[in-house]
Amino acid sequence: MSRQSSRGAAWEALRRQVLERDQYVCQYCGAEATEADHVIPKDAGGRDELDNLVASCKPCNARKGNRIGGRITWFNRRWLAGVG
Ligand SMILES: [Zn+2]
Repeated sequence: MSRQSSRGAAWEALRRQVLERDQYVCQYCGAEATEADHVIPKDAGGRDELDNLVASCKPCNARKGNRIGGRITWFNRRWLAGVG
């Protein structure tokens, strides 16, 4: 098995469970889902559990990750401090 960030076989199994639960439908836009997205980001204390995951298509998963208030809260805070 190759080393690939922090996501391994356990994550793959969990992702599949989420996709099957949500019937492979993106919970944001209704398109076909291929990803599992954290409702509460891991940085904010969210866990890798079914309750904290929703099916998501790739564009929505990427969009959420780039949005302020999502995974980059720490970065936003620095911004505010610097730009005021
Ligand atoms: Zn979507």
